[in-house]
Amino acid sequence: MSFDTMGLSQAILRAVQEKGYKTPTSIQAQAIPIILQGKDVMGGAQTGTGKTAGFVLPIVHLISEKKGKRKAGSPRVLILTPTRELADQVYESVGAYGKYLHLKRCAVFGGVPMRAQITNLRKGVDILVATPGRLLDHVNRKTIDLSAVEILVLDEADRMLDMGFIHDIRKTIECMPKERQTLLFSATFSKEVQKLAETLLRNPEMIEVAQRNTVAETIQQSICLVDRKRKAELLTHLINKNNWNQVLVFTRTKHMADQLSQLLDESGIQATEIHGDKTQGARKRALAQFKNGHVRVLVATDVAARGLDIEQLSHVVNFELPTVASDYVHRIGRTGRAGNQGEALSLVCNDERRLLREIERLLKITFPTVTVPGFEVTAPARKQPVRKGPKKGFRPHSYPKRDASGTRKERTQDKRYEKQRYR
Ligand code: AMP
Repeated sequence: MSFDTMGLSQAILRAVQEKGYKTPTSIQAQAIPIILQGKDVMGGAQTGTGKTAGFVLPIVHLISEKKGKRKAGSPRVLILTPTRELADQVYESVGAYGKYLHLKRCAVFGGVPMRAQITNLRKGVDILVATPGRLLDHVNRKTIDLSAVEILVLDEADRMLDMGFIHDIRKTIECMPKERQTLLFSATFSKEVQKLAETLLRNPEMIEVAQRNTVAETIQQSICLVDRKRKAELLTHLINKNNWNQVLVFTRTKHMADQLSQLLDESGIQATEIHGDKTQGARKRALAQFKNGHVRVLVATDVAARGLDIEQLSHVVNFELPTVASDYVHRIGRTGRAGNQGEALSLVCNDERRLLREIERLLKITFPTVTVPGFEVTAPARKQPVRKGPKKGFRPHSYPKRDASGTRKERTQDKRYEKQRYR
């Protein structure tokens, strides 16, 4: 299959060509023709499969073919994403794929002032990319009107539900016309996702590119057993010895991300970190520095790293294993993208063996163990139990709250969420 035979307009094919894509990925080959027919889609696809182009390409085609009147604050397409980073990336993709079409796009997400977003919205918008919380704030303030939405996309639906956005999503959907095309993408299909899909989609076409909780075959996974206190030393050793130039490293906590990034920097490996305590601007800068090669290592927590799109990332290191096994799949999905080879290495200390078993059980594999001479495990580490899941009293489904005026302080909420879950 080639892009040329899918029925996309010349203007779009030109943009695709400029991106350097030669053939559609599996999700694109399946999704594009169905979406062009105007059908609803339920897509099982993780990031890294090319799913963004899979829905953005046909959407920009459809709305540029069917001319509609552009109105202030009233989009024809709404794309909902769980995080600001993902919203930003989808927004960039809309710009890239719709480069030769005269479409107006806007992005609204928390962490940046409402004012600039309102000014942009007033200039008219065809495609709106948004996180559910900030979108609802705009809807409540009447700076966004959803009554003209023709196409709705829920990207990473499982993540949005995990983050407790279900009420915000349902409220915003009430403001949209029932007569619309709806596309839902999710890496996993929990009961909650299926329930949401049942209420939103009409006779959807099912598309699945990778089985649930599986990892791309292009990713070579392994573990390295190591004493907890020697992890940083081992990581430095591996980066230097193998001359890794772009490594995404995951920690469980913001504190550890800061500490590790500083430690790497001090040992001569340029590193930066990205987590929920960083402002939107700082996160964007860190990501840009990593992408353009100014820093070799990006240390990230799970929430901050969701949906990060870094082309051709060759190495992901789990400095600490995630407490939620499915987060492992999301973490290492940053490498081995669009057919490229990638390597995922987990540094596992004694206390993490239970987490390791859970991940192996989920993926139905046993990871090969790599031994690095000089770093063999000496004695069982002192017990430092790993906290599993949120602290007592944490109610993810009540997140986020709003004040009396109905406005939310998203940053504070974000912090609370991370603090509880990834302490
Ligand atoms: P996504 O799953 O949408 O996050 O995309 C993952 C990566 O694959 C992005 O860096 C895209 O630029 C890239 N990509 C998307 N479609 C293709 C394609 N047809 N050929 C090569 N790379 C692609």
